[in-house]
Amino acid sequence: MNIHAVLHEATIALKASNNSDEEKLEAQLLLEHVLTVNHAWLITHADDEINSETDQQFEALIQRRISGEPIAHILGEREFYGLAFKVTPDTLIPRPDTETLVEAALAKISPSETARILDLGTGSGAIALAIAKDRPNANVIAVDASQAALSVSQENAKALNIHNVQFLLSDWFSTLTNQHFDVIVSNPPYIEQDDVHLKQGDLRFEPISALASGEDGLDDIRQIILDASAHLKPKGWLMFEHGYNQAKNVSTLLVSAHFRSIETLKDLGSNDRVTFGQKP
Ligand code: GLN
Repeated sequence: MNIHAVLHEATIALKASNNSDEEKLEAQLLLEHVLTVNHAWLITHADDEINSETDQQFEALIQRRISGEPIAHILGEREFYGLAFKVTPDTLIPRPDTETLVEAALAKISPSETARILDLGTGSGAIALAIAKDRPNANVIAVDASQAALSVSQENAKALNIHNVQFLLSDWFSTLTNQHFDVIVSNPPYIEQDDVHLKQGDLRFEPISALASGEDGLDDIRQIILDASAHLKPKGWLMFEHGYNQAKNVSTLLVSAHFRSIETLKDLGSNDRVTFGQKP
C-alpha cells in the first residue's frame, strides 16, 4: 500500500473510535514518527509504497491511539513554547494554554536582571525551562513533590541544554525555608475532584495528583497563596494558571492575602486562564 492509502484507512479507524477529534493530523504524526520523517516529506511522498514491517509498526501505534492513549505519550514528546519536551505518564502533558503563564512571567522579568524565579509543581519542566531559556540571566528553581516527574524535567533540561534551572524535590514550599523569589509561577492541580472531564480524553492517562485538587479544585491554590508571601521579595509576583471559571475565586484569595495589582489574562481560546498579584 502507498502512504496515501495507509493514512486514509488509519484516519477512518481513528474517527470510528471517538477517541480522536483530529484523526487526519494524528495519523500523519504517527506515520511520521514510524518513518522518522517530517511533515513536509510525508505530504510530498504520498505515492510512495511502505513495506509491511513499517505498516505493522504504524498499525500498532494507531491501535494504542484508538484505545485512548494520548498522542503525546505515544510519540513520547510534546512541543511547548517552541521547545520539544519529553513526556511520560509521570507528568502532565504540556498544553498551549500554559504558554499564557510563561508570557505573563517573562513580562515581569527584565532580561538584564539576575532574578530568582520559582516554578511550583514543575512536572515535565515546561514552564521553568521555557522561562529559563528566554531569561538566561535568571536563576530558576523548579520543584515537584514527585521524584518521577523530577527525573523527566531533569532529562528535559539536559536535552534542551538549559543550565539555569535547579530541580528540587519539595512539596510546594516544604524544602524552601528562607528562600525568596522575584516571581513565583505555578500550574498546580485545579480541577474539581468530581469533574467528569477527569474520566475523558488525555486526562485519564495523566497523574491525578497533577490534575484534581479538592471539591472546588482550589485546595492547592489556597495553600500556595497562604505560604507564598513568606517566599516573595517585596514587590515580587505570584502567578497561577487556573480553570476557566476560577479567576474570580483566585483573585479573591489573593486580595485576602494582601496581594496588590491583581490581573487576569485570557488564554488562546479566550478563557480566563492566568491570574497574578504583587506582594506589597
Ligand atoms: N489544563 C488542564 C486541563 O484542564 C488541567 C491542568 C491542571 O490541573 N493544572 O485539561
